[in-house]
Amino acid sequence: MTNSVFEAQWDVIIVGSGAGGGVVAAELANQGARVLVIERGAWIPPDEIDQDELAMIARLYRDGGAQTNTDADMFVLQGSCVGGSTVLTNAVCFRMPEDVRRRFEDYGWRLTSEELSACSAYVEEAMHVCELDPRLHNPASHRMAEGMRALGLTPGRFDKAFDRCIGCGYCNVGCGFGRKRDSSTVWIPRALEAGCELRPRTEALRFVHRAGHVDGLVCKDLESGLNFTLRAKRYVLACGALHTPELLLRSGLGGRHVGKRTSFNAGAIVFAEYDEVVDGFDGDQMCVHYFGDGYAIEQIQNPPMSFALTMPGWFDEHHAAMLRYRHRVAAGVLVPTRPVGRVFRGLGSKLLTRWFDHPNLAFQLPTEDIESFRRGFEMIARIFLASGARVVVPPLATYTEIRSENDLGLIAERLHTQRDLVGFGSSHPQGGACMGDDPSRDVVAPNYRVYDTNCVHVCDASLFPESVRVNPMISIMAVAKHAASIIGSLVDRNQASAVHVC
Ligand SMILES: Cc1cc2nc3c(=O)[nH]c(=O)nc-3n(C[C@H](O)[C@H](O)[C@H](O)COP(=O)(O)OP(=O)(O)OC[C@H]3O[C@@H](n4cnc5c(N)ncnc54)[C@H](O)[C@@H]3O)c2cc1C
Ligand code: SF4
Repeated sequence: MTNSVFEAQWDVIIVGSGAGGGVVAAELANQGARVLVIERGAWIPPDEIDQDELAMIARLYRDGGAQTNTDADMFVLQGSCVGGSTVLTNAVCFRMPEDVRRRFEDYGWRLTSEELSACSAYVEEAMHVCELDPRLHNPASHRMAEGMRALGLTPGRFDKAFDRCIGCGYCNVGCGFGRKRDSSTVWIPRALEAGCELRPRTEALRFVHRAGHVDGLVCKDLESGLNFTLRAKRYVLACGALHTPELLLRSGLGGRHVGKRTSFNAGAIVFAEYDEVVDGFDGDQMCVHYFGDGYAIEQIQNPPMSFALTMPGWFDEHHAAMLRYRHRVAAGVLVPTRPVGRVFRGLGSKLLTRWFDHPNLAFQLPTEDIESFRRGFEMIARIFLASGARVVVPPLATYTEIRSENDLGLIAERLHTQRDLVGFGSSHPQGGACMGDDPSRDVVAPNYRVYDTNCVHVCDASLFPESVRVNPMISIMAVAKHAASIIGSLVDRNQASAVHVC
């Protein structure tokens, strides 16, 4: 291998360009720090995005959308592109609930209610967050709202990070119209304007260090296959939950709690069919929601491929149901799980370090979370029936049709473990490098520094000691804004730094 060496001066290297990495990059660059962002995925601008679900999922998602837990009964969706998972969102925006912030304070987080409000307002303004225009609501959402009202519930509307959205309904494969606000359209451009450098298609492999004193970050250029080492004064890991813990594990950093306390907003989709044509796909995918006891119901009207992938039923039954696509509607039940997941390096990963770059994830829903799913499925079935649905199909491995309230008991009868679910997964992994004030329990100190290192920080969803309960993007961005002010104050701009390619 040819060795080439070049020198550059960076104050901070940020790994990952999603919700956490994008905000920290923009903020630190605007504070005058010399910043480099390295990102595993490619930069895929709107003019390269179309509505071919298969092709776009393969390009934009980690492992082409096929990332699962070790039992292979749960998928975990994450982005692998400049902008990270934010490129794939439905742009749903919720602030971190105050009771969640207080729970995090119990772990030692130093984020006051006032600071969180100010940081949330700041990121919301940049992301153009406002209520979804009712003209973009899809026809299925009107049915769901009717059903909720019939049961005396109030349908919640979503705030979204859109910019003149036309409601095409393909948000989960990126926005080919450039109308979604995400890290690749908001924070990374701000960072670049302020002088930050970006290196896409570059993967961080591991830190070189002596007892936590970091001497460089070994990276791989995914185009050429060449490895090289980068050096900076400080490093910020923003690879997302699963991959930030994995990088720490690979590097032998973070102590014995790395990878532990992984949590999710995990979900599965309930389908319903009406006699008449609904054309639920005709508008934005997610327009109505409802928060219940231990669960949230969020409408999700997917385009055909994703619709088919998550819909229960096999072979002819499944085929016949897909032919009724124009009559079918769907809604997800999301449960903020307990933090019982664990990211670890399996034997394959340890023995075949050069070829395996995948974290292993152990996760099974605890009984309490299964109960939340049962309650959520029953509630959405009631909502659909109240709005005139002919049949409701919950996501159970034993194919189940609910045609009246009398059938609701089937849900509890057939749902006992995660294995009993179909299309079960999460787009909101959290935890694994949890922040708190107890080094014997936590991985990251309240100043965002990994306890057993001198200069490695974490700033992404893996900091959360418990599930944040709502769709997490705005919470992560607000925390990243807070983190940037602390990390920025630690950067000594007079100290030299260098990069070596070798
Ligand atoms: C399909 C989908 C829909 C969603 N919808 C919503 C929504 O509507 N509202 C909401 O609030 N949230 C939503 N989310 C969740 C939200 O996008 C994520 O919670 C958030 O983006 C996570 O931020 P993060 O910084 O932790 O990680 P990410 O945004 O995932 O960024 C991590 C980045 O690090 C890169 N990376 C990983 N490992 C390495 C490495 N070793 N070297 C270099 N780079 C690396 C990845 O490629 C990725 O770009 C959705 C997620 C998905 C997948
Ligand atoms: S619904 Fe709006 S934001 Fe989403 S992909 Fe279509 S135009 Fe873009």
